[in-house]
Amino acid sequence: MAEITCWAISFCYNEKNIFTPYSSYYTPRKVKAFTSDGTSGAIQVRGGLDTGGETPENWLATLQETGEKMKAIYFDGGTSLREVDDPRPAPGEALIAVNTAGVCRTDIEITQGYMDFRGVLGHEFVGTVLECESQPELIGKRIVGEINIAPDSGDDLQRRHAPGRSTLGIAGKDGCFAEKITLPAENLHIVPNEVDNVSAVFVEPLAAALEILEQVHIRPGDSVVVVGDGKLGLLVARVLVLTGCGLTLVGKHPRKLAIARAYGAETLTLEQLKDRKFDVAVDCAGSPSGLQTALSLLQAMGTLVLKTTTAVPPDFHTAQLVIDEITVVGSRCGPFPPALRLLAEGLVDVAPLVEETYPLDEGVEALEHAARPGSLKVLIDIA
Ligand SMILES: [Zn+2]
Repeated sequence: MAEITCWAISFCYNEKNIFTPYSSYYTPRKVKAFTSDGTSGAIQVRGGLDTGGETPENWLATLQETGEKMKAIYFDGGTSLREVDDPRPAPGEALIAVNTAGVCRTDIEITQGYMDFRGVLGHEFVGTVLECESQPELIGKRIVGEINIAPDSGDDLQRRHAPGRSTLGIAGKDGCFAEKITLPAENLHIVPNEVDNVSAVFVEPLAAALEILEQVHIRPGDSVVVVGDGKLGLLVARVLVLTGCGLTLVGKHPRKLAIARAYGAETLTLEQLKDRKFDVAVDCAGSPSGLQTALSLLQAMGTLVLKTTTAVPPDFHTAQLVIDEITVVGSRCGPFPPALRLLAEGLVDVAPLVEETYPLDEGVEALEHAARPGSLKVLIDIA
């Protein structure tokens, strides 16, 4: 057992994963430490977790090394390829070998300070189950995984909003830019044979696009505008076009607008919009200004759907929402089963959205590529 200094701790309490960056008053049953050199593993914290005002740098813990190491793309203020300890599944969790992972705008925002996350990045993946004591029938199966972790709290919607939840590669849980991850078995969905690995990586963002239809009744007669021709904007446009509504995608990259036109969306640049107004506006711009742009395109009593999360908060005046009686809908994660069905039935083809694939050893370069303005989906091939 090696003695380490740790700066962030997550632990299980009453079988719930709780992440605490600084202090806690719970008695931990299982504790995991993330250290400044990227080591992680099961630990015993000296003297409990109430640090009595000590700075995190002074926490001492004893690390029970698991021995096995794996490669991972790790963020601790900077992004690097590291050797970290193999993850070990907690009760109810599966150990998963990651096959392919996708870089999301959220990963880039995290590297700019969003969510104050430290650990292995990544939340979009397809993998193969290596171990699963609670559901051994999953072993060897190709799966995708919901990212919100709150064991025994109910269905995916309840997990998504459970207090104390952790989120894969975003809050309190190491992510999928690594050779292996753990996730609760209840988060996993088997991928049908018709869906290849590249398509399966898109299940998480495609589910997020479908969430809009769970939340807002879009009628075939409605006019809908999607602001932003990035990866999510293109997926949202692809899904909403299936409703038969009049769909307009607003963007500035001719190459990406052409992708949306191919599946029947009208595409315009901001300058071409003139005085057009819509019933529903979806902000997928990925920038703090997208919200204002989307609102300016709505007619009175319209619905504004927000998909963008940024490290920098938007500078936004709310009066227009009141005057025009706008309905605002925040929209994050969505249902995996219909996303898998759309891919299996060929109703959504994601191949045009893939820009480049990097090996895990070049994961840092993959993130740099994905951060370039105008880039499409960057994948990381892991196994
Ligand atoms: Zn994402």
